[in-house]
Amino acid sequence: MDDIFAIIEERKDVYLEWLTRICRQPSIAAQNVGMEETAQMVVEFLNGIGANGRLVETDGYPFVYGEIGGQSDKTLAFYDHYDVQPPDPLDLWESDPFEPDIRNGTFYARGVSDNKGNLIARVAAVDAYLRARGELPVNVKFIFEGEEEIGSPNVEGFAEQHRDLIQADGCIWEAGYCDTTGRREVYLGVKGILYVELTARRANVDLHSSMAAIVPSGAWHLQRALQSLKDHEEHILIGGFYDSVLAPTDADRQALRTMPFEEDGKRTQLGLDAFINGLTGEALLEQYVFQPTCNIAGMWSGYTEAGLKTVLPHEAKAKLDFRLVPNQDPHEIYDLLVKHLQAQGFGDIEVELLAAEHPARTPMDHPFTQLVIDTSRDVYGQDPIVYPLAAGSGPMYPLCQKFGIPAVSIGVGNENSRNHAPNENIHLKDYYEGIRHIAVIIDRFDSL
Ligand SMILES: [Zn+2]
Repeated sequence: MDDIFAIIEERKDVYLEWLTRICRQPSIAAQNVGMEETAQMVVEFLNGIGANGRLVETDGYPFVYGEIGGQSDKTLAFYDHYDVQPPDPLDLWESDPFEPDIRNGTFYARGVSDNKGNLIARVAAVDAYLRARGELPVNVKFIFEGEEEIGSPNVEGFAEQHRDLIQADGCIWEAGYCDTTGRREVYLGVKGILYVELTARRANVDLHSSMAAIVPSGAWHLQRALQSLKDHEEHILIGGFYDSVLAPTDADRQALRTMPFEEDGKRTQLGLDAFINGLTGEALLEQYVFQPTCNIAGMWSGYTEAGLKTVLPHEAKAKLDFRLVPNQDPHEIYDLLVKHLQAQGFGDIEVELLAAEHPARTPMDHPFTQLVIDTSRDVYGQDPIVYPLAAGSGPMYPLCQKFGIPAVSIGVGNENSRNHAPNENIHLKDYYEGIRHIAVIIDRFDSL
């Protein structure tokens, strides 16, 4: 790989200039700022390396797609996104979010960690490979979306309509970070999510609370419904909820043992006497990584301002999120929730579905997983930390696992990259090492 690494070294300034150029271009999907310009710029980056970049229209912002043929018929895909979060609050930035600034080897700009640094690192790795060898050993595909930060509403439709474009033997997912000691992290999947809003009503109007003697309360009704969802040991009581949950394998448990988790520090930091059910050690980590949740994200009813108001609320609302694990299906869980409420006497409570995303993961013992772990060790000089499931969610299932494509997430972020927050950053050292890591994966992918 020395020839390719030499090119990466030689073209350091070019790759830095690419990164600067794309980070200077705002692309705030939530506000429709700079989206067209950025998509066009990404097309040009792809054309610059001979990847035949083009826009693929969706009902929202377009995908940018490109591909380069290689010597074998194996295909490696890269999924990234060119949109970013809004930069607010601006006064907490030490430099302009869209005027990249380098301080002590760290590059600051909105979107540099999430996800433009990774997007450009993939492109740069292919560029360096081609310059060194003239040809790629495998086919590569670039699948860049523009709506990740607004929930990827068109990924599923895109994948269904363009199965030929997404078909691959493996997909490098968008992001990766390191722990406080600099150990790289590799993620083999994402949790899914079901987000609902419950509305409980009794009378058709709020009343003087003296009426509570004879009129039922929406607030109590909702409270009882919520109470029915979980027992005192935090076990979720929705019938069938756990049926499709995959138990962790021995290899998964092995990976858990390498995860840094400062249990006592975390507990003290949070002012807790204990975690749920007094769990500690491996059992705690296993619960954290592999168990689904039923969380009340918010609830409100009646009078909540200062002082008192004696009111009988006719309506109460709660927002619930369920973090789902493989192979739970968010739409199935939604149906089970509705059925549960009906069976428990809460069939009148409205259940509005606000978001649904499938969990996804690639097994520990999959050859692609092993390839990414082995190459990470070779490039960074130490074993990575392997997370069987990342804490966050993302459209991995509709783009990859649904079609049997293994996906593994790695990237150029650090332990304090501040995604979505002021002073988002990556270390330049991580950027260049990330480019090398991708180049090595391309080099060995044919052995899969
Ligand atoms: Zn993000």
